[in-house]
Amino acid sequence: MNPKELRTISIIAGGRIIDPAGGLDATGDVYLKNGRVERIELRKRSLLPPVRLESDAEIWDARGCIVAPGFVDLHVHLREPGREDEETIQTGARAAAAGGFTSICCMPNTDPPIDDQETVRFVLDQAREAACRVYPVGAITQGQKGEFLTEIGDMVAAGAVAISEDGKSVASAEVQRRAMEYVRMFDVPVISHCEDPTLAANGIMNEGTVSTRLGMPGVPAAAEEIMVARDIQLAAFTGARLHIAHVSTAGSARLIRRAKRDGVRVTGEAAPHHFSLLDRMIADSFDTNLKVNPPLRTEKDRRAIVAALADGTLDCIATDHAPHAIEEKDNEFDVAPNGMIGLETALGLVGKMLVHPGYLEWPQALGLMTRNPAQIVNVPGGCLAEGEPADITVFNPDQEWVVDAGRFFSRSRNSPFVGWTLVGRIKLTICGGKVTHLDM
Ligand SMILES: [Zn+2]
Ligand SMILES: [Zn+2]
Repeated sequence: MNPKELRTISIIAGGRIIDPAGGLDATGDVYLKNGRVERIELRKRSLLPPVRLESDAEIWDARGCIVAPGFVDLHVHLREPGREDEETIQTGARAAAAGGFTSICCMPNTDPPIDDQETVRFVLDQAREAACRVYPVGAITQGQKGEFLTEIGDMVAAGAVAISEDGKSVASAEVQRRAMEYVRMFDVPVISHCEDPTLAANGIMNEGTVSTRLGMPGVPAAAEEIMVARDIQLAAFTGARLHIAHVSTAGSARLIRRAKRDGVRVTGEAAPHHFSLLDRMIADSFDTNLKVNPPLRTEKDRRAIVAALADGTLDCIATDHAPHAIEEKDNEFDVAPNGMIGLETALGLVGKMLVHPGYLEWPQALGLMTRNPAQIVNVPGGCLAEGEPADITVFNPDQEWVVDAGRFFSRSRNSPFVGWTLVGRIKLTICGGKVTHLDM
């Protein structure tokens, strides 16, 4: 169904309203008007809706559901320009809406990369009619070649909310240092994909007992941790704001925890696949959808990521949604590209892996998906306050559902979670007052 044909909603009634930014967790009704949250009325009793559901064109019955700020994803690959066969800004944004996201940041490793003002403008133009807000992340170096800094100020002026070399690290510490000195003028973060290129070399999975047994070249945890440590030192040195992408090892979490204690301006994110999957699963299936960068790690690492999300060491959950064509993933493990799609399975994995087992409560989990990421890139949304844009996600936290590749809105299908039963289902997404997804 085309979201443009969907109804408008003026009251979301009777749900459990959780707004981590405002410290709100109570039953009530959210009134929407002119694309904004008009007011929130809390109720002592959750038994009855405030109004009879006469015309369902106006009132959404949210009983049994959680009403939250629209989710914010700091880490998405949209593939446009360059690989529109895998994803476009439109299809990626539609997949985001299906996953409950109302704001996404798109990484610059497109073809051509987002490394100048013109390309930032192109992305924003393409996103104008999209199903969620799209915020471009600019490259750190021209052509992502690691040599010459981009015109960061121009890109920020055009709407870039951060800079990143995602897909790889800036190998030169000197170039990374100058990028960090530069961003201090604009108060945007440097988002760092941490991977020492010489240690990662041609590794295709986590280096450990499983890679040894399979005879596959590995990427050691140290390849990530060395760059996390380097960039933390550079952030401390320059005073820049550093955000570590897709933290995958226990050691990286430890480094970030210590840096925060020392007052370094560092934040971090974890991807759902890193708190849900393990390197040893590759031995069972050789499913190339399990090939990601950084790679799936061990149970010890997975537990450390969960603990770091729970204790505030990691600030947000970001999908690293990375669409790939079937013909490229349908290949030998060593030649298949890295990455999996993640927008449409994120909430269900948070429910299944984090909330239902009791590691996190919903208000805390939602803080990692709303308030915190919005603050890191300083974009609107991430809260449900009166007068704010009506970016809202309604989901059933207990509904189980089976992931069906045929129902993805993404243009790509590369998810290892197909066939999994997840817990927590998006029922309704509203962006700027417009319904962008409705669970049918
Ligand atoms: Zn990356
Ligand atoms: Zn990425």
